Amino acid sequence: MKTVDHFNFENKKALIRVDFNVPLDDQLQITDDTRIEAAKPTILKILEDGGAAILMSHLGRPKAQEDEFSMKHICNRVSEIIGVEVIFVANCVGEEAKQAAANLEMGQILLLENLRYHKEETQGDVAFAKALSELGDIYVNDAFGTAHRAHASTTIIAQFFPEKKCFGKLLSKEIESLDRVLNHSEKPVLAILGGAKVSSKITVIENILDKVDALIIGGGMAYTFIKAQGGKVGDSICEDDKMELALDILKMAEQKNVTVHLPIDVLAADDFSETANTKTVAIHEIPDGWQGLDAGPGSVQIFDAVVQNAKTILWNGPLGVFEMTPFSGATIALGNSIAQATKNGAFSLVGGGDSVAAVKQFGFEDKVSYVSTGGGAMLEMLEGKTLPGIAAILE
Ligand code: AMP
Repeated sequence: MKTVDHFNFENKKALIRVDFNVPLDDQLQITDDTRIEAAKPTILKILEDGGAAILMSHLGRPKAQEDEFSMKHICNRVSEIIGVEVIFVANCVGEEAKQAAANLEMGQILLLENLRYHKEETQGDVAFAKALSELGDIYVNDAFGTAHRAHASTTIIAQFFPEKKCFGKLLSKEIESLDRVLNHSEKPVLAILGGAKVSSKITVIENILDKVDALIIGGGMAYTFIKAQGGKVGDSICEDDKMELALDILKMAEQKNVTVHLPIDVLAADDFSETANTKTVAIHEIPDGWQGLDAGPGSVQIFDAVVQNAKTILWNGPLGVFEMTPFSGATIALGNSIAQATKNGAFSLVGGGDSVAAVKQFGFEDKVSYVSTGGGAMLEMLEGKTLPGIAAILE
């Protein structure tokens, strides 16, 4: 796997696909700059070698060229974080971009305007990719969040750098961490899958059954399994059309010697609301009018024992509706369990939008081995797919 560490960037202009798709508030202020911080090591390596960095990214989903999606809103923050003044150019291709790239001196950073101001980006247009490629000498992909998309700047562009393309430090770390969990893991391997729906994670579960020794299924997904087994789930979220599939998954797990743990009890509420009345009930006996919104204390205890026994842990999806304080308990407890297991030597990887949000919100970020930044990209890797952005560098 070729990374930036295999190149000397002295007198070279690196064209780096970063993921600066950061959240902005109404005042166009950045509310979370994690993604900019994450790109810093790659950019610094290039500058320290004596090279220059040309940064390209998308921001949001512009339909035309709406000002609110302009990269100019994040330019200052990039300067602050990297510690080098960033030059901004109001297009990513064309004369203006070419001139700006040509004028760029070693040690400088150029930030291109939003790639998605051009529909050719998401279309994977070859001519557009070629125009981008002409701006730099070496292509670096450091954007895991878009590695599952065959877009011009993430995939198509790589063909114009047959010998001069590599992964940035962030993307290579993502690939290594997922590879460590999926293919080079120390046993026992445990996957914890939570979140709202079974339907969005079926392919992940099917693929992961070949890789793990134990599986915890929690969150809203659990109720489809419990109902399929004949339990009463009251008004809990449940996908009736996926019940047969749930039973197939349990059968498949048994055949593959994977131990599946479902919650045994839940914190049920009489309304989907923070102020609802709550009570702890057995998961098979949730009364009508009540819905399970978090795993209960008995489940938390069992899950903790399973987590402490694991040497490799993958966590995707919360165990309850953690956005509402009364139903965040099991997700926090799980975070604590994983932190403890990590302290004792387990390798833990947390990924997927909502679990990352939970890990950050509850302060576990530094207590797990790795937090993956790409939601969709990570899920596709867990599904066993080859991501086009990764394949394009490896080819
Ligand atoms: P996902 O995007 O599939 O990982 O789902 C995450 C969402 O699942 C979060 O917003 C949680 O609030 C939600 N969730 C977790 N447990 C439950 C539950 N028991 N009932 C309803 N929603 C849940």
